[in-house]
Amino acid sequence: MMWDTDRQPVLHYLVHQAPVLFLVLDKHGIIQQINRFGSRLLGPETPGKIFQDILNDFHHTFCLDHIAAGSDTVHLLDFKILSGNVQTYHCRFYSAKDQILVFGHLDIDEIESLSSELLAVNQELNNLTRELNRKNRELARANEKILALSRTDHLTGLANRGYFSERIDQMISLAVRKSHPLSLIMTDIDKFKTINDTYGHDAGDRVLQGFADLMKTSTRTEDLVARFGGEEFIILLPLTDLCEALAYAERIRLALPQKNLLQNGHPIFASFGVSQLLPDEDRANLIKRADMALYRAKTSGRNRTVTATSSDAHPSGP
Ligand code: GH3
Ligand code: MG
Ligand code: MG
Repeated sequence: MMWDTDRQPVLHYLVHQAPVLFLVLDKHGIIQQINRFGSRLLGPETPGKIFQDILNDFHHTFCLDHIAAGSDTVHLLDFKILSGNVQTYHCRFYSAKDQILVFGHLDIDEIESLSSELLAVNQELNNLTRELNRKNRELARANEKILALSRTDHLTGLANRGYFSERIDQMISLAVRKSHPLSLIMTDIDKFKTINDTYGHDAGDRVLQGFADLMKTSTRTEDLVARFGGEEFIILLPLTDLCEALAYAERIRLALPQKNLLQNGHPIFASFGVSQLLPDEDRANLIKRADMALYRAKTSGRNRTVTATSSDAHPSGP
């Protein structure tokens, strides 16, 4: 008996692809042909073996005479498959000349129970995937928080010196590329040690926080306000020339004593140094010139703003 599956696509599917068992036995019960699914189920070396023996392997009492009788009655055969489970196949036996065709399929109840097991596994997998996605989102949020914290000064909430150092190079190269002005303000609270000594360290902290808030609210979102250290702060102003930066600094300077940060009428003052980025200037020089201007503000009486000259600290200057 030949399976002419090439000319019959449905038969081709049933024999070669569907999860069904096809066997051809001779009249002695020797397996002559087996389909791919059958080989996977019963083992690749099955052809040539006696079907009865294979059934014995599976502890099934099945009478060869009964096969030979050629009835198409349904018999249940239990096959152990690789995973060790026992699966029940419904098999029919058809006699044709001196051969017997065996056709078997999985018990429908077992398919249903397998399907519901698969559905449960799938559901579990979906739940785990959802949980994993949720954890990943939490992790991303935690990482964002850690990153933000690593860039922030914890007392004032301003950018810290590390983050300022990261950003200033980007802001300088953008200003150079676009030929835009970029200015820097450096400021330091006047006689802050006396404030600490007189009113206590906590009161000093509140002054630092109030000054930070004032600078933050007096600048634009594109400006970078950072705590440089102690009671010294730095403001980087893109798209701002020296004249405009001076106006910014003056506005903050004049507003500071009005804020009543000590809440006892004792005014707080600060000094300011301002510089504008020169052609070919690096960040160290830009900061240095603002620092020198701040120093001049301090030495010339404090509570004032001084602008840097282009020759201050510049390598090509005097
Ligand atoms: P000048 O006008 O010349 O700037 O004098 P100054 O007293 O402000 O400067 P000085 O450098 O002598 O003192 C700065 C003080 O700032 C000393 C230090 O204890 C204090 N300080 C630094 N960081 C903090 C802080 O986080 N909180 C408080 N409360 N004080 C701080
Ligand atoms: Mg000071
Ligand atoms: Mg200082």
